[in-house]
Amino acid sequence: MRYISTRGEAPIRDFSGVLLAGLAEDGGLYMPESWPQFSHDEWRAMRGLPYPDLAARIIQPFVGDCIPAETLLTLCRDAYAGFTHPAIVPLVQLDHDVYTQELFHGPTLAFKDMAMQLLGRLFDYVLSQSDRRITIVGATSGDTGSAAIEAVRGRDRVDIVILHPEGRTSTVQRRQMTTAIAPNIGNVAVRGTFDDCQDLVKAMFADTPFRQEMSLSAVNSINWARIAAQIPYYVYAALQLGAPDRAVAFSVPTGNFGNVLAAYAAHRMGLPVGKLVVASNRNDILYRFLSANDMSARPVEPSLSPSMDIQVSSNFERVLFELLDRDPAATAATIRAFRETGRMPVADATWQKARTLFQGFRMDDTDTEAAIRALRQETGYLADPHSVIGIAAARSLRNAGSLSAAGPVIAMATAHPAKFPDAMERATGERPALPPHLSDLYDREERFTVADNNLADIEALVRNIAHRNTSPASSPVTGVPA
Ligand SMILES: *Cc1c(COP(=O)(O)O)cnc(C)c1O
Repeated sequence: MRYISTRGEAPIRDFSGVLLAGLAEDGGLYMPESWPQFSHDEWRAMRGLPYPDLAARIIQPFVGDCIPAETLLTLCRDAYAGFTHPAIVPLVQLDHDVYTQELFHGPTLAFKDMAMQLLGRLFDYVLSQSDRRITIVGATSGDTGSAAIEAVRGRDRVDIVILHPEGRTSTVQRRQMTTAIAPNIGNVAVRGTFDDCQDLVKAMFADTPFRQEMSLSAVNSINWARIAAQIPYYVYAALQLGAPDRAVAFSVPTGNFGNVLAAYAAHRMGLPVGKLVVASNRNDILYRFLSANDMSARPVEPSLSPSMDIQVSSNFERVLFELLDRDPAATAATIRAFRETGRMPVADATWQKARTLFQGFRMDDTDTEAAIRALRQETGYLADPHSVIGIAAARSLRNAGSLSAAGPVIAMATAHPAKFPDAMERATGERPALPPHLSDLYDREERFTVADNNLADIEALVRNIAHRNTSPASSPVTGVPA
């Protein structure tokens, strides 16, 4: 499989190439040159496969010749072995023809683990083939950093340094990062905001000598390998509920558009998907686009579902590329206009095409809290402030009749309610307990370094952390406990 950039000006790469590169050099995002296809009989033959085996089957065509099929199967089995539910991605029925699929049974209790656990192993394998090491740097306001750290913890060829804004992440989120202690992990609490952290990461990538010296890499949601690793759970749910002999619909709590893009990919691979509901919180740019062709950026407002607080969904560029019949020049021009004017110009016919598959939904904080309470009372199910928006979308659109032709609706549950104990307690009066593998999270030793918002200081820290693994003689950087 070959990968091309949505903007058409970057080298064509294979799977290993896009895994390590992340973003394309022209600022675009990598896409498979063509969509792998499975026939009706092939989908049917996948029914009943255990999740890791299904995942290997679905991901294999994207990997192509880069990894042998038996190796990929081993990596998939290994990636999901630590999940705490035996089905890995269980379905729960909530209503007539409404289900939720729980994607939060991984080590950090959010759906990011579904892709990251596999990605860490893919990195190790691909790097060992070429005898290389990389240093991953990232900024996080919460879920992504902890999932990335867990994914590469103790791996041989990857060092990781995650910046978080000091005192501005939730305690659960911070402790999930800072209590993961291994020689290849560095946590830095920056005296600044999340935006400062992101600017520092961008500045490190822009510092070419440093970038090359450290072999910097990123694991943000624009990496195609992450999207590929999210396709199998859509297939798993659809096959359980009657596909390929009937269509299903999915409802996805959305931020950067990575998760719902994986559902779109499954659709393009031949899985019968009747509708994709894009569920947003008060930061509703995608809802405004899908309901009124109004893709205009507004300032981000904090909400109860912080992982969906976005102004611009970076992965939307991949769907735009498809909607524009894979015309890279038109894609680049549309994105450029959006950056320059804050409003994306989309022709009416293109917008209508988007609406045949995608449907928007939005919910503010007050309604989110009420929906958590109502769902608990009516079904007994406890959904976190992200998942509940997708579930509420599925139930209300179904009741309004607008999804009935699309088949059963499956809402993606993206985080465990125990990750957001305060919001859950306010909505229901109950404080959900952390699952057993994290029940001592508040007692574990924390290790992180506090640093000023200063590029030279941060680069020195990154260098130290990477060097302590390549040269055993060098003195390790010492963390500052909380
Ligand atoms: C990351 C995240 C989302 C948003 O997913 P995208 O792929 O960015 O659209 C939703 N819910 C939770 C809990 C998340 O961590």
